[in-house]
Amino acid sequence: MDEQLSLKRRILLVEDEPINRKILENIINHDYEAIVARDGVEAIELIREHSDKLSLVLLDLMMPDMNGFEVLQFMKDDKVLKQIPIIVCTAEKDCEVKCFQLGAADFITKPYTHPAVIKARIDRAIEYREGRGLIHATQNDSLTGLLTHDFFMEYSHFRDLHYNNNNMDAIVLNINRFHLINELQGRRAGDDVLIKIADSIKRIAKENGGIAGRGGADEFMIYLPSGMEYNNLLKDIGSGLEDLLNNSRVYLRMGIYKNVNKELSVEHRFDKARTACNSIRGSYNTHMAVYDEEMHEKETLNERLINDMVAGIKDHQFKIFYQPKYAIQGERDSLYSAEALVRWEHPELGLLRPDTFIPLFEDNGLIHKLDHYVWDEVSKQIGEWMVKYDLKIPVSVNVSRVDIGAPNLEEEIFTVVQNNWISPGMLNLEITESAYTENSEQIINVVKGLRDRGFAIEMDDFGTGYSSLNMITSLPIDILKLDMQFVKNIKEGNKEMKMVELMMDVARSLKVKVVAEGVETKEQYDLLKKAGCDVIQGFYFSMPCATGEFEKLIEKENKELEDEVNAALAAM
Ligand code: C2E
Ligand code: CA
Ligand code: CA
Repeated sequence: MDEQLSLKRRILLVEDEPINRKILENIINHDYEAIVARDGVEAIELIREHSDKLSLVLLDLMMPDMNGFEVLQFMKDDKVLKQIPIIVCTAEKDCEVKCFQLGAADFITKPYTHPAVIKARIDRAIEYREGRGLIHATQNDSLTGLLTHDFFMEYSHFRDLHYNNNNMDAIVLNINRFHLINELQGRRAGDDVLIKIADSIKRIAKENGGIAGRGGADEFMIYLPSGMEYNNLLKDIGSGLEDLLNNSRVYLRMGIYKNVNKELSVEHRFDKARTACNSIRGSYNTHMAVYDEEMHEKETLNERLINDMVAGIKDHQFKIFYQPKYAIQGERDSLYSAEALVRWEHPELGLLRPDTFIPLFEDNGLIHKLDHYVWDEVSKQIGEWMVKYDLKIPVSVNVSRVDIGAPNLEEEIFTVVQNNWISPGMLNLEITESAYTENSEQIINVVKGLRDRGFAIEMDDFGTGYSSLNMITSLPIDILKLDMQFVKNIKEGNKEMKMVELMMDVARSLKVKVVAEGVETKEQYDLLKKAGCDVIQGFYFSMPCATGEFEKLIEKENKELEDEVNAALAAM
């Protein structure tokens, strides 16, 4: 044995299956010297022989002749041998409590899918026994020092094994619009916020016998004994964050899954807390949500919708409704264009509104498939109407913020219109303002490309996305769609009306047209007309309607045009 090797700590590996033996040897070989036993009897011989030089035993439970339990018992009964830490390797979760009672220090589960975790647990068991406490880079997040995702899950599981009687809560904590902090205040400030939050939850976990970890960018996880007062906890975590950001507010949101069901995997428990946390995403009034029966039902429904989507597309269950937009500054209100809005005629669940499935499909990326289907169907429809009614007005479709990330979006949409023999000028694209603030550089490039191909771009939900005036002026857009929340409360001379007038000014200076959405009353119509709004969409004119009904609106428009021409001819 060479000098180098003999300095390494020695681990006894007890495992009858050659493949598993090899895997474990590979994991430990770099830092430790492995000696190997193929069954329990051999293990006991080697333990006796090396007793004072063994740092750890890695013990398989199921072996011929003498099984792992007997080896555990044998070591437990010996004053010297019981000092050696034992990690049990098993595929049966049920044995864990029994093994702990027999003195096992820790577990690793078969199959061995997380080598880094196994190695860290071995290091830890040895360090613990030797009274050391090294911190490992892979185990702790380098910015905040919190446990990283995998380790957090492992340790939470481990904690349950030790204190199985505790009721526990799973908590997911997130920062609303964290990317904006990075963008507006700089990465450094963003990091400071993360570190401060991490320090708070580390302290809270420590004081209350819990575990804290970092899930990803701005997501934190805490596993805590039940019974905490969460309002105070959230206040505690949030306090002092403003000081790091020149007094601008940080909105935290917290999802709690109380008194977790321990039959679920730890991962699954935190999924539920995350579901609760996501349920209040974007809300500025609610900062905390507890996972409940309603969310459970929603989750179950969501799973179902995800499962049914592909078949739904294949069976043409997704129907497109058309809502007209009218130009209102001319002599009469004339049909200016339409927006295509999707609905799902689900065979068992009935007619589903987009709000039930669009955000869900955006979360998991399925939206792109659905949107592609909608673009294609609408393009086909436009082609038919061009033949049947000599349609000249464009129809707009929605392009989700998620679609923007698709490779070759420009080429993709262009191919859709080409395949349906219509020009890009007939298919307008609505993109929500918040997509611009989320990923400004990428979206600007994509949108420029689309405009170069001849598509007109409408900025949807304008006024809700926090774009600065500065940014707006540099954006490649053709139409602003004023969000309906502004239209809802307008009255002569009130604050909302002033806001609308301001936005009209912005649009004029950009030389783009303005569409006001959600116009329901004559009063709103009059006010918007007076303010110079070009186009109106809303129940005042029409709800979104099925193809047949929209055709009647086209016919009516064609008739009015014809009457106008005839009247003009008659006057000549
Ligand atoms: P949106 O793009 O802002 O569409 C306008 C929504 O306002 C539509 O809701 C429309 O029915 C509704 N609306 C129209 N006029 C009025 C009114 O006068 N008063 C009120 N209170 N509401 C009015 P809808 O059809 O439920 O669609 C909701 C959202 O779902 C849409 O908001 C859009 O973001 C999304 N969506 C719809 N179809 C698609 C699609 O094919 N693809 C994608 N990615 N998103 C879609
Ligand atoms: Ca829209
Ligand atoms: Ca909108």
